[in-house]
Amino acid sequence: MQLILATSNKGKVREIQALCKDFEVIPYSQLMEEFEIVEDGNSFKENALIKARAVFNALKRDDIVVMADDSGISVDVLDGSPGIYSARHAGKDANDKDNLNKLMQDIRAKGATSSPAHYTAAIAIVTKKGEYVVHGWMHGEAINEARGEKGFGYDPMFIPLGYDKTLGELDDDVKKELSHRAKALKLAKIVLQTL
Ligand code: IMP
Repeated sequence: MQLILATSNKGKVREIQALCKDFEVIPYSQLMEEFEIVEDGNSFKENALIKARAVFNALKRDDIVVMADDSGISVDVLDGSPGIYSARHAGKDANDKDNLNKLMQDIRAKGATSSPAHYTAAIAIVTKKGEYVVHGWMHGEAINEARGEKGFGYDPMFIPLGYDKTLGELDDDVKKELSHRAKALKLAKIVLQTL
């Protein structure tokens, strides 16, 4: 089955391809020119649906399955911020590095070296048969410094529960088992089997 991904985030595409080996996973940018999708929902679920619907409608084909991931990190000492705003934490045009630096700075500004935190992933699937959403979470500790180069986004400052290294330092295989995205994808695959 072909699975069209409504994202061009290279880190997400790489992880989803590695976790969905039974499917041909294709970023939508391979089928059409990328366009701006305004993610103005109030939850990960709403934003995942907005992205999947936008690409499904733009492709104008009945025979496709479009999947979108909306995800982010919530830090307890920052009252759950940045949450659904994780991609633009350091501003509208911020890149992963800007966002990472800003979040570490925010934790330092609270006088903390670390804080309990969690990642959330909502995965939406849109087909002509209907719309489906599943979620996954990964809990751990956000620290105020970056360690390691692996993963993407906020991974160098996130230590999963039960580990003493960040996702920037741990092998990709560890994240493949533990991650919010891996857990949501397990459920997404059950949905896909019913289509
Ligand atoms: P989205 O593409 O609108 O869902 O934004 C997701 C934001 O959360 C981006 O800033 C990502 O870098 C960050 N993010 C989501 N999942 C992960 C992850 O697994 N590791 C690190 N950062 C992530």
